Amino acid sequence: MRRWNGWGDDAQNYPLTSAAKAVLEDLVGAGPQPQDMTLGALIKHVPPSRLPAHPLITTAAEERVRHARGQSFPDLIAMRSGRGLVFPDGVAYPLSSADVRALIDYGRQHDVRLIPYGGGTSVVGHVNPEPSPQPVLTVNLSHLNQLLAFDPTERLARFGAGVAGPDLEAQLRAQGYTLGHFPQSFEYSTLGGWIATRSSGQQSLGFGRIEQLWAGGHVETPSGALELPSFPASAAGPDLREMLLGSEGRMGIISEATVRVRPLPPVDDVHAVFFPTWEQAELGARAIVQAGVPLSMLRLSTPTETMTNLALAGHRRLIGLLERGLSLRHVGSEKCVLMVGVMGQPAQARLSLKVALGLAREHGGVAVGRFMGRQWQKNRFRAPYLRNTLWALGYGVDTLETATTWHNVTPLLKAVEGALHGALAGEDQPVHVFTHLSHLYTTGSSIYTTYVFRLGQDADATLARWHTLKTAASRAIVAHGGTISHQHGVGVDHRPYLVAEKGALGLQAIAALTTTFDPGGLLNPGKLIERQMQGADNVERELA
Ligand SMILES: Cc1cc2nc3c(=O)[nH]c(=O)nc-3n(C[C@H](O)[C@H](O)[C@H](O)COP(=O)(O)OP(=O)(O)OC[C@H]3O[C@@H](n4cnc5c(N)ncnc54)[C@H](O)[C@@H]3O)c2cc1C
Repeated sequence: MRRWNGWGDDAQNYPLTSAAKAVLEDLVGAGPQPQDMTLGALIKHVPPSRLPAHPLITTAAEERVRHARGQSFPDLIAMRSGRGLVFPDGVAYPLSSADVRALIDYGRQHDVRLIPYGGGTSVVGHVNPEPSPQPVLTVNLSHLNQLLAFDPTERLARFGAGVAGPDLEAQLRAQGYTLGHFPQSFEYSTLGGWIATRSSGQQSLGFGRIEQLWAGGHVETPSGALELPSFPASAAGPDLREMLLGSEGRMGIISEATVRVRPLPPVDDVHAVFFPTWEQAELGARAIVQAGVPLSMLRLSTPTETMTNLALAGHRRLIGLLERGLSLRHVGSEKCVLMVGVMGQPAQARLSLKVALGLAREHGGVAVGRFMGRQWQKNRFRAPYLRNTLWALGYGVDTLETATTWHNVTPLLKAVEGALHGALAGEDQPVHVFTHLSHLYTTGSSIYTTYVFRLGQDADATLARWHTLKTAASRAIVAHGGTISHQHGVGVDHRPYLVAEKGALGLQAIAALTTTFDPGGLLNPGKLIERQMQGADNVERELA
């Protein structure tokens, strides 16, 4: 069963070896023992529902607890401690677009706020109810999970938009096809959620981001329904899909989505290359992506991330052998690992790999084969389970991400890492910080940073620590010209920084769109943009 207060299936864990625990203790010190609330205790805090009865809605307390938060670090603190929790008044499970329509009409009739909910894997506060005088209904779309139409000639597949990653891929794989969208949250996140947050899968270099994969579909809005046709391309004015991509549940509920699929590639491998220094690694990775080599993935870790991943991996004897071999080839303590994904027909994959490794070699890269890549593929959706383990050991771990153009990649990366390192200096708390470039483009790259810190003595202290870290990093991103999000979206946590890249007029345009589709402000209030636009002006002043 899915954990109610953390990541993943509660039958699965990610235990750490004692050597890995020792490394952590060395880096940030021993963590305090957290005191977690039980589900039973939390259920007792759920107030009576304010919703009028409806056949699609349950008001059961446990359902309301399970839909109170997403998966951000503040969400984890809230679910573990009960601190600051606001529960939806009920949860609905629509089975069709008509049910979605009926729920929106119910919301309008009874002045109910509706939160569209896919897999609840948001890491920026997208699905959290805010305190509100009106009742709040979470609309869980997970029962809209069927493959509705599939046409191999057109390579288009239409799904219920609440389908989660594994169900979507299983239904396509049965036909010999794949969507190829694999965010790390794949186990639980849904097609509609990917669209509404502009998600990026781990193999976006080969398959494209969700923007490229989403072809059309059906959306129910308070102002009426939108049917978005799946043209291969169109010059008929602005694209309505662009208005819904990243709309974060504010403009409508996507009930059906048509996606561009492709045959399962016979080869889908990952190889590892080590570079002696970050400078050489960045040059090598940039050369490969700018050469346009058809690859599925490039993922480049800094020396600290490379060291951390090797330390946490176990396999000490093998890693010792690897490091001795690398040092003979002048790759030492500053080494950076680049994961290179190849896919497609065998001949094409062989050629892509040859060209990529040749370019890497020109920049000092040493290829070490597929062993590490296979490990990465095996564990690619397992890493999030580490958060539960670390919490139990008294550590917080969170990630943040941005993107920028090539000249600015290393300066921005250093600025974000520096901000995180210094953020808790006043409390004399070390923070372990490491980064990789996860989605590379010809013009620049995304930057994905992980930080580990000790929990505070209680929930308030832990939240204050997280807030200090997150604010320092977000301000560094904005000040150094990065986007506030490459893939996680805006939600609540990134909302104050949106004006820096959209501008006041841009935010007004977004607000005008939400008003067109949702004049009564029923859908997911307070996410993406303020309920009242004057909030953006406040932030602009604050950032100035
Ligand atoms: C461990 C972990 C790893 C992650 N890795 C990645 C990653 O690799 N790449 C990445 O891009 N993101 C990642 N994320 C973030 C998250 O998984 C994505 O934002 C994902 O797209 C959210 O999908 P969801 O179905 O869970 O949506 P939810 O969290 O349920 O909702 C997110 C937002 O979308 C809206 N929404 C959901 N469904 C619909 C719908 N059908 N119609 C209209 N609005 C809707 C909601 O109202 C909300 O505003 C990760 C998160 C976690 C916890």
